[in-house]
Amino acid sequence: MSLAIDGCVVEPIIGLEVHLQLATRTKMFCGCALEFAAPPNSRVCPVCLGLPGALPVVNSHAVELAVRTGLAMHCRIARVTRWDRKSYYYPDLPKNYQISQYDQPICGPGHFELPFGGHIRKIRIRRAHLEEDAGKNIHPGDGITAVDLNRAGAPLLEIVTEPDLRSADEAKEFAEQLRRLAAYLGVSEANMMKGQMRFEPNINLRIRKAEAVFVTPIVEVKNLNSFRSLHGAIEYEVQRQFDEWRETGRTTAVGNKSNRGWDDVGMRTLPQREKEEADQYRYFPDPDLPVVKLDPAWVEHLAEELPEMPIPRTERFTCEYKLPVRDAPALVDDRATADLLDHAAEAGADKATLGKHFLGCWSKLANERGVTVAGLGLPPTAFGELAELAHRGVVSATAAAQIAGEIVRCWEAERRTAKPEALAETMGLVQNRDEGQILEWVEQALAANSKAIADSRENPKKAAAICGFLAGQVMKLSAGRADPKRTRELIAQRLESV
Ligand code: ZN
Ligand code: MN
Repeated sequence: MSLAIDGCVVEPIIGLEVHLQLATRTKMFCGCALEFAAPPNSRVCPVCLGLPGALPVVNSHAVELAVRTGLAMHCRIARVTRWDRKSYYYPDLPKNYQISQYDQPICGPGHFELPFGGHIRKIRIRRAHLEEDAGKNIHPGDGITAVDLNRAGAPLLEIVTEPDLRSADEAKEFAEQLRRLAAYLGVSEANMMKGQMRFEPNINLRIRKAEAVFVTPIVEVKNLNSFRSLHGAIEYEVQRQFDEWRETGRTTAVGNKSNRGWDDVGMRTLPQREKEEADQYRYFPDPDLPVVKLDPAWVEHLAEELPEMPIPRTERFTCEYKLPVRDAPALVDDRATADLLDHAAEAGADKATLGKHFLGCWSKLANERGVTVAGLGLPPTAFGELAELAHRGVVSATAAAQIAGEIVRCWEAERRTAKPEALAETMGLVQNRDEGQILEWVEQALAANSKAIADSRENPKKAAAICGFLAGQVMKLSAGRADPKRTRELIAQRLESV
C-alpha cells in the first residue's frame, strides 16, 4: 500500500519481530514456576540466577509449543536444532549472555495468510526460534534501580517475518491475528497486559520521485507492548523518515540501521543506542546444552492434531452458519464453543438456526451466568434439538428462547433428562397451526384495532407496518403460540378483503 506525499510515492517496508511468551508451567531451562506478579525474586534458582556451575535443562513442553506454532504458520520444522549464547551485558541478565538460537532455529521459513483490505496477503515468516527472557529492572524511586529475576529464563518464541507488511494498519492486523492464533493453539496466553507478546518492527521507506527510487535507512523500534504502540510507532516512523530523507537525502547503507524507542505519552519514537551487528553479540554454541533432535513422526503427529485455524474457521462459520461478519470472530475465538456448534450441527440440525441461537438466546444465558456457551455444560444434542424445533416451525423464536432458558435451569437443578421437545409441550409453547383458532385470534385483533385498519386503507404505504403490528397483537393473544407465518398470511388476506 503506497501513499502519495508531496509528489512522491511512498511505500513503507515493514518486517516484524514478535516475542511470544510460551504457556509452559516452568521456565525454559530450569524448574522455576512461571508466575506473573509473584513477589520479586521468589521464582529463581541457581540456573536462572546464572550462578557458576549450574546447568540448564531444556523444557520439552516449550519445544512442543514452538513446533505447534511453527506448523500453524506452515514453517519448515528443523530435524536438529541447537542453542547458542548471545552476549549481553545488562543487570537483568545475570549470566551476561542469553541462551537463544542463531543459525539452526527450531522453525524455518513459512508463511501466514492474512485477509487484509479485501485480499489474502501472504506474509512470509523467515524463522521462529526459542530463547529465554531477561528479568525486569524496576525503579522504586529515590534514584534506585532494583532487579527482579522472576521473568529471567521465561520461554520465548521469537517469530521473525520477512519485510512483507506495507502499512501500520496491516502490521497491526497481522499482530492481532497472530495473537488470535497463539491463543487458539493454546501455545501462549498472549496477554499484552502481562507483557507476554512484544513487538519490534523494522521500518523503512521506498520513495519514488519522478523516475528515481530512494530507500531510507532501516529503523528498528524496540520493545512495543501493545497493538496501539505498534501502530503508532509505524505511522510516526513513516512520516519521520520521509521528512528526514527530504532534509538530508540519506538512504540505506551498510551500518546505518538504527534503533529507536517508543514514547507512549508523546506518541513518538526516540533514538537509542545503535543496533549491534551479529558479530558484536559473539554468538557461539552453548556447550552446556546438547542439540535437540526432533523425531519426524512426532512432528507429523503434532501436525495432524492441529485444529482448524481461526481465520479459515471464521470464514467457514460466516458461510455455513450464516453468521454476521461482525459477530463470527467472537464465536470462533472461544474454541470450546465453536467446537460445540460444529458438534451440534453434525447431528443434522439446521445450521442457520443454530447460528442464530448461539449468538442469541444461548449467548444471553451464558452471559447472565458469566460463562461461555460451552461453559453452560449442555450436551450438543440439546442445541441441535431446539434448533430443529424452531426450524420446523414447531415453536416460535421467542418460545425457543424460553425453552433454552428452561433447559439451562433444569440442568442446573440436576434434572438432566430435560428434552426441548418435551419442554415445548409441558410449557404449552407448541405453535398453534389450527387455522380456525388462528383466524379467531386474528378477528379479535382486528376488532380491537379498527382505527389501524382504516389507516391502512387510506395509506397503502403503511400496510406492511400495520400488518406487523396486528401480527404482534395476535402473538399476545395467543401467548406466542400462533404460527407467525400463517398469522401474517391470514392478516394480509383479511386486510385486502375489508
Ligand atoms: Zn530457575
Ligand atoms: Mn529475541
